[in-house]
Amino acid sequence: MIATRSIGFSAICLVWAGLLAGGWCEAAGGTADDGPADAVFVNGKVLTVNAHSSIAQGFAIKDGHFLAVGSSQAIRRYIGKNTKVVDLGGRMVVPGLCDGHFHDEGGGRGIDLSMARSLADVLTAVEAAVKKAKPGEIIVSNSDWHEAQLKEKRLPLATELDTVSPNTPVVLVRGGHSLILNSAALRTWRITKDTVPPQGGAIRKGPDGELTGEIFDNAKRLVDLPPPPPVTIDDVLATQRKLNAFGITSVRIPGGYKGQLLQDYQLLKQARNSGQLTLRYTVYLPGFGVRDPARIREMIANSGLKPDEGDEWVRIDGVKLGVDGGFEGGHMTKPYAEPYGQGGTFYGLTLVPPAAFTAVVKEINRMGWRVTTHAVGDAALDEVLDAYEAANAEHPISGQRWAIEHAFIARPEQIARIKKLGVILSVQDHLYLAAPSMAKYWGLERARQVTPLKTYLDSGLLVVGGTDSPVVPFNPFWEIYHFNTRDTISDGVYGPDQRVVSRETLLRMITINYARLTGEERIKGSIEPGKLADFAILSDDILTVPARDLLNMKALATYVGGKEVFRAAGYP
Ligand SMILES: [Zn+2]
Repeated sequence: MIATRSIGFSAICLVWAGLLAGGWCEAAGGTADDGPADAVFVNGKVLTVNAHSSIAQGFAIKDGHFLAVGSSQAIRRYIGKNTKVVDLGGRMVVPGLCDGHFHDEGGGRGIDLSMARSLADVLTAVEAAVKKAKPGEIIVSNSDWHEAQLKEKRLPLATELDTVSPNTPVVLVRGGHSLILNSAALRTWRITKDTVPPQGGAIRKGPDGELTGEIFDNAKRLVDLPPPPPVTIDDVLATQRKLNAFGITSVRIPGGYKGQLLQDYQLLKQARNSGQLTLRYTVYLPGFGVRDPARIREMIANSGLKPDEGDEWVRIDGVKLGVDGGFEGGHMTKPYAEPYGQGGTFYGLTLVPPAAFTAVVKEINRMGWRVTTHAVGDAALDEVLDAYEAANAEHPISGQRWAIEHAFIARPEQIARIKKLGVILSVQDHLYLAAPSMAKYWGLERARQVTPLKTYLDSGLLVVGGTDSPVVPFNPFWEIYHFNTRDTISDGVYGPDQRVVSRETLLRMITINYARLTGEERIKGSIEPGKLADFAILSDDILTVPARDLLNMKALATYVGGKEVFRAAGYP
């Protein structure tokens, strides 16, 4: 009954510009007949993110859902003899935060380079691992680091890795697209100057024609790394705890989580069945790299899954595809900056030929599934839009929650095409981390316009935020800081014209917009009666805190389905 209650009358609540005292709206949603609540929260500043951007003082919770939202006075009416009463002491409450593009939180069992700040730090970490290695072992790093964090702002060379590991193979995994090998590793997999990279991949050479050790995108297939240890329920639970500490209550998993996606999905379901989930998951099947409609049909059939199966804890949404590389292989219509442009001939990588990609997309659409696609460069975006338009001509995709991941670069007419198709954009704060690399690969002018968020929003597109963790750390407050300021970790402000001044707009991208992307806007994404009681009490006022202080924000407490899943040390 609660879930179906109209949420319409919060319109009477105070709207933004905000009177701060007295005259708060009546409790929206509940009536006296609803009886006492399980818990009430009063005396706070509650950003509801409802249609009117209302700010309330409190809310009541019953059976894991918001029962009523409104003034403290109105909410106190729901207090019964067993109701837990929480005085927020003026603290800010926001809907549970969401990460629209999350793989894992970083870390892992390889070498940890996340805190390296120079090439010397990288070499020290490699050297330590080599000393401990057993004969025949291959040294592998975790992927959650980027050369932009290093003083030198470049990757180590194979020859530099050789100085600390002349004989033991070393493979540094960098984000989702690059591997950096030392000479022993290059020998192990027989990669030489003469090796022809697979289509959609590249083997980097220096100005002297020698291998640098970096290989990327489809060339990664030349290396077959030892399989990571199997993922366990404990891994899943540890990840949830880390995210809950930042107020995160939902994540969208685009094709890759910790291990094999189908096994991960079973683990998530197992954790749900045993009541251990404190995070909600929307999962996409991995179809990155598939070029054959028959193959995708078989993969989907073998998964035994259906789109939208699951519940509010773990659900399947669609298939994740990809057409180009990342920072070093995003497919552009204009060549890369020199020397990466190779004399104006390098435009990035096409991981799946356009005709094959279109055929796969049409096949998925015919099967009644939705698609989301990784596209970094504007040429990649053309490929995706061509395919989506072809699919749309057969069975309309508009309103079916099809999406594009990343969209670093877009031309104006492409934005019009995205809008016409009703496609949703899933963007992240890669620029915050990797600005100097983007400038190096694409030139400063292009890098400054990476992820033109303001343009997207001004064009009326539905845009969802995220981090692509572990590529970028999963901290949602860093993401808001970056999009609010366009500041970067190591290279100052890029493209100030793309700043999004309204922090509420940015918060919407990781709350209600996320819920619209996953088709769950009726059950979550805002603090409104009838919705799941997912919310976070924050350390600071996200609307007014000085921008710089956003970087240090955290959750004081996080609730999922009305249940406390995190409380900061020292928070009463
Ligand atoms: Zn990703």
